[in-house]
Amino acid sequence: MLAQFGDDAKLLAGGQSLIPLMKLRFANPSHLVDLNFISDTSYIKEDDRFIYFGALTRHAEIEASPAAVKVPVLHDCAAGIADVQVRNRGTIGGSLAEADPSGDWATVLFTLSTEVRCLGTNGERTVALADFIKDAYTTALAHDEIISEVAVRMPAKGSGGAYLAFKRSAPVYPTASAAVQLTMDDDVCRDAAIALGCVGLIPIRATDAESALRGQTLTEKSIAAAAEAARDAADPQSDMRGSTDYKRVLVGALVKRAIEIALRRARGEQVGVGHIYA
Ligand SMILES: Cc1cc2nc3c(=O)[nH]c(=O)nc-3n(C[C@H](O)[C@H](O)[C@H](O)COP(=O)(O)OP(=O)(O)OC[C@H]3O[C@@H](n4cnc5c(N)ncnc54)[C@H](O)[C@@H]3O)c2cc1C
Repeated sequence: MLAQFGDDAKLLAGGQSLIPLMKLRFANPSHLVDLNFISDTSYIKEDDRFIYFGALTRHAEIEASPAAVKVPVLHDCAAGIADVQVRNRGTIGGSLAEADPSGDWATVLFTLSTEVRCLGTNGERTVALADFIKDAYTTALAHDEIISEVAVRMPAKGSGGAYLAFKRSAPVYPTASAAVQLTMDDDVCRDAAIALGCVGLIPIRATDAESALRGQTLTEKSIAAAAEAARDAADPQSDMRGSTDYKRVLVGALVKRAIEIALRRARGEQVGVGHIYA
């Protein structure tokens, strides 16, 4: 149908981004192609390598899934998106396809090894998430393609992650957010992935912050160095949610806290995480 109706057609998944845009007249598609009528598009499966999410899997289904118990950063993300109404309708595929700079899923999934399966008239292809998100509201999807599945590689043994967002209230997007994934060899950090949300046009991998942790014993000093490097990596815009300087300080604080929680989780501790409200 996308090929048939051309550029004027839009896919409808949960409608939690598209319908508000249509109400504001920022989007005015002549055809809506409703994915909700296609069976077997909402599922969570796993094998020993990946967790697979059907594109129409709702945030709330992920929040309540065994996968989110196994990989708690998925729970941190899904449970913190807006309010229960949005979580019951909004989908992981819709969130990645929208590529909203403030969206939570892309930031979190940047710290895990994530593949996006795209299905179109020419068949299926797999795109690494880092190559899928091209710019704000821009992805590698061709007009006649849909996201069919999101595959998240199972973190290595000894891994722990955390995602923290700072928000003014539940049903709004975060002011800034930070996702951290650590893999520990006893006290030494074997690998680290840190992504910053809402402080750039797309999620930012804070690679200098990651280097400040990799190969190190995680102490107050190494964690502070990583937080400082994350502040430097942020590229925020000043807006109604805060000034550039405010967001940089905020992101540093979120990264510090997220590292501390990720470390405790990597050591096997159960740590509950909620977003932080102003
Ligand atoms: C009040 C409110 C607060 C919100 N707060 C947050 C928040 O804090 N954090 C957050 O991350 N999100 C938030 N959202 C957005 C929410 O998470 C959406 O669910 C998500 O961004 C889009 O998913 P959707 O399934 O609703 O997509 P839709 O709105 O149906 O679609 C969004 C776009 O993606 C395309 N699309 C959808 N599915 C596919 C697919 N399978 N393949 C290709 N293209 C597709 C559509 O054509 C459309 O262009 C909020 C929404 C509202 C209304």
